[in-house]
Amino acid sequence: MKRIALLGATGSIGRQALDVVAANPELEVCALACGSQPLDELAAKHHVEHVQVGGDLTDLLERAEPDVVLNAVVGFAGLPATLWTLDHGVDLALANKESLVAAGELAVAAWQRGAGRVLPVDSEHSAAFQCLDGRPRETIDSLVLTASGGPFRGLTTDDLADVTPEQALAHPTWNMGPKITVDSATLANKGLELIEAHFLFDLPYEQIDVVVHPSSIVHAIVRFRDGASLAHAGYPDMRVPISYALTYPERAATPLPRLDFANGLVLEFEAPDRETFPLLSLAREAGERGGTLPCAFNAANEIAVRAFLDGRLPFLAIAQVVEAVLAVSDGSPAGDFAELEEADRDARSLASGFASALPVR
Ligand code: NAD
Ligand code: MG
Repeated sequence: MKRIALLGATGSIGRQALDVVAANPELEVCALACGSQPLDELAAKHHVEHVQVGGDLTDLLERAEPDVVLNAVVGFAGLPATLWTLDHGVDLALANKESLVAAGELAVAAWQRGAGRVLPVDSEHSAAFQCLDGRPRETIDSLVLTASGGPFRGLTTDDLADVTPEQALAHPTWNMGPKITVDSATLANKGLELIEAHFLFDLPYEQIDVVVHPSSIVHAIVRFRDGASLAHAGYPDMRVPISYALTYPERAATPLPRLDFANGLVLEFEAPDRETFPLLSLAREAGERGGTLPCAFNAANEIAVRAFLDGRLPFLAIAQVVEAVLAVSDGSPAGDFAELEEADRDARSLASGFASALPVR
């Protein structure tokens, strides 16, 4: 029996993880956490002993002694749990990409100290993990992450001037929490994933590409030096990578549909529109320059997305706020968690300042 601590249990990933666990007798949830809603009902339904709402989630992890931590908290708030899990050598099923992006080198150092496994839950990274599968790195030419392009694919900057949160939240292929759905609409999500892939797979940025693939069937592709490529395909359903991460290395059976090639499967690819959606290039630049710039990118984006969702910031200003914060951040590396928190706080306060100075429409 694998004991799972499920952090972010009330969210989109959390709820799908509970479905996966309920369908698999080898898995049990030993701890549940979320940010604000009461968890009593969920805990009773799934017979979970350890429960925590808000606060320091590492207290919960200490009490629960899980075999696997599924970190599905949204945003920088997931970072202490990521670092605790890595440091303790406990398997980390990682959905909370923001923690790896923000903490980068600190997280990798904790991972090396703890020597546990990181099992990506993000669909592209789960796919990449399976295509890379320990193959010698000198044989790898590059990793390609796919992006759906989001609800605004094909639109121009003029078209985007007045788009509303409701329009941004109408994702064509994935049903996700609000923050990541807006990130998918701006392509910031793919920028975060680029940095996530860099740290997860220890690949330089020039070996990671992004391609738009509207039907979200192919999740990642690894190109090899001999001209061959391996692609990972499946319907867009997060229960597949969640199940893979929670049952690794067994790859347990799921009742989910198999790919049907007889009914109009469409596999089209195109280059991302980097001018209309500048957050992808801004993330790449922040990643390449390194230090705490990925942390600043993430923090500024979190603040700007919140302001957009609250109707305080136009869609196009999300990228403007992030760009303005990156332009004035020195990005000097964080030596420890306290310094990282300071970089995060500084970037948030700069972002709030820029956001409130911009016109709402
Ligand atoms: P969501 O908004 O649906 O859920 C977020 C969860 O985090 C909720 O349970 C919330 O209560 C909890 N939370 C927020 N702040 C917290 C805090 N301070 N302490 C404890 N819990 C807190 O988000 P989601 O779509 O499920 O995404 C979760 C994470 O997974 C994000 O990092 C996202 O980028 C990543 N992810 C999601 C998907 C998806 O399909 N939803 C796909 C890939 C990656
Ligand atoms: Mg993803």
